[in-house]
Amino acid sequence: MGKTKISDYSDLKTPCFLFDETEFQRGIREFQAALKSRSFDYIIGYSVKTCSLPYALRKARDFGCMAEVVSRDEYQLATLCGFNPQKIIYNGPMKSYETFIEAVSQGAIVNIETKRELKWLDELPDGQVYKIGLRLNINISHVSPEDADGDDDNSRFGFSDETDEFCDAVKLISSNPKVHLAGLHIHRTTHSRSPRFYERSIEYAAQVIKKYDLKLDYLDVGGGYFGIFHNKPTFRDYAEAFNQALHRNGLDQLQIIIEPGNALTASSFKFLSEVIDVKRVDSKTRFVTTDGSRNDIDPFFRKTNYLKEILYKEGNRPIEPFQVIGGCSCLEYDRLFTLVDSPLINIGDRILYNNVGAYTLTLSPLFIRLWPRVYSISRERDKKVVRRELNASDIINFDS
Ligand SMILES: *Cc1c(COP(=O)(O)O)cnc(C)c1O
Repeated sequence: MGKTKISDYSDLKTPCFLFDETEFQRGIREFQAALKSRSFDYIIGYSVKTCSLPYALRKARDFGCMAEVVSRDEYQLATLCGFNPQKIIYNGPMKSYETFIEAVSQGAIVNIETKRELKWLDELPDGQVYKIGLRLNINISHVSPEDADGDDDNSRFGFSDETDEFCDAVKLISSNPKVHLAGLHIHRTTHSRSPRFYERSIEYAAQVIKKYDLKLDYLDVGGGYFGIFHNKPTFRDYAEAFNQALHRNGLDQLQIIIEPGNALTASSFKFLSEVIDVKRVDSKTRFVTTDGSRNDIDPFFRKTNYLKEILYKEGNRPIEPFQVIGGCSCLEYDRLFTLVDSPLINIGDRILYNNVGAYTLTLSPLFIRLWPRVYSISRERDKKVVRRELNASDIINFDS
């Protein structure tokens, strides 16, 4: 990084996201290759909540992914982007009754999360045995203490085998002639994102599978993987961890489902903003206002650092002691970063933020300045607008 010139993107209107299709495809191909090199069968379900840009969803489909959705709205969006129900993995507590029945009866992979879904199973049309999955509750402190956040890293999700709830759910499903329990879902994200955690959570699932003598088709290990960082685990390391745990338990025939979000999207998006004003308020501080906001690339306001490049226009730049780079909103704390003893920044300079595709476009509020446009870029250096910026008319259209 760091070799970008301002002229590379001079034809782009700021603020904007840049979706690097080549990088997106590379990530998917690399994960596919890592999984293929092992003996198990696999599915990659692209986590829609991580970045639901329709253009990216269609590309994920073209590159061979299924769509992993966690609400009625995401289910419908995936459908509109060309995913048949057979290409959808439906998770989470926010399924609607209608889409739940449709998904199960049309052959989607549906992992049950709530007790109301267990009741809904009775409403499935007669005359067929439907496959369903069940989410198993995972307490990371019990499954892999080294990866836990404290000594009771419990979860709101799934049915627990530490209480009677998993057992009760399994009994209810086996007493219903219309359904067959075909899979378990064990998604949890750890801070360490370590392959060790997956090895252990699969090990835990394997014990549960044996305990209840389950005859499953798949194990859905969820998301939570690192992407591009060189000193971090690779897709091959994760695939090896799955393989070890499956093999040790004689479960090589199980299909593995993964649901990566962050690992595929983070490095596939950049954000470009432009300096629109500079001012001094005291002898020390030079405030720089840009047309991008922290809301665009750090909607939780928690990041402490960005993989950024400052793209200077031509001209001689003296060293400036202290510059604060701020966003375009009216929030006093919409401040992105500070530069100490760096070349002076001027109006028209641009800032390129790399690695900002995960949990950004889906989490940005419609605050003050509506969603920015998105360009796609590819290795061939083609650029095209794949989502225009939102405007006031779009908002008025919601009025009823
Ligand atoms: C959020 C989520 C994912 C994606 O997680 P990443 O950390 O972005 O890879 C996958 N599966 C489920 C069920 C999720 O809730």
